[in-house]
Amino acid sequence: MAEIVKAGNPVLKMVAKPVTVFDKKLKLLIAEMKKDMYLADGVGLAAPQIAVSKRIFVADDGTGFDVYINPEWKPVGDETIIDVEGCLSVPGWFGEVERYAHVIVKYQDIHGKKKQKKVSGLMARCVQHEVDHINGILYIERAISLHKDPRYNEP
Ligand code: ZN
Repeated sequence: MAEIVKAGNPVLKMVAKPVTVFDKKLKLLIAEMKKDMYLADGVGLAAPQIAVSKRIFVADDGTGFDVYINPEWKPVGDETIIDVEGCLSVPGWFGEVERYAHVIVKYQDIHGKKKQKKVSGLMARCVQHEVDHINGILYIERAISLHKDPRYNEP
C-alpha cells in the first residue's frame, strides 16, 4: 500500500501533469490507487495524494468504482450546496465547503477513450474536490469553516 501524503507535502501544491501514455504502468498505478482508496475508506483519491503528480483520480460514491484520467468539469446550472467535506490528506479535520450541485465531467478512461457524465450530489462534490487536488488545491483553502473531528485519534 502506498502512503497517503498529508497537507504540507509539496506534491499536494503542484499542478499535476496530464496523462499521455495509456500503458501497463498506468494500469498498475490505478490499481494501486483503487486499493489505497478502499483501504483508507475514502470516497475519492487523487494521484498526488500518493505522491504521483498526474491528472488522475479514482472514486466510488457508493454507486460503483470509476477512474477519471485528465478530468475537467463544468457546472450545470448555478445551484450550489454547502456541505461537510473531509480529505485523506487532512486527517482529523472536516469543514464546510460550497460546491456546485450538478457538474458535467469530461475525462478519459483507462484505455484513453474520451467519456463524459453528468453527476450530482456527493459525486459532483467529489469531482470538484479531486480536480482541485490535481490543480494543487486542498479543500481547507476553500472551506467556510473547519472543525477538529472529535472521533479522530492521532496515530
Ligand atoms: Zn482530498
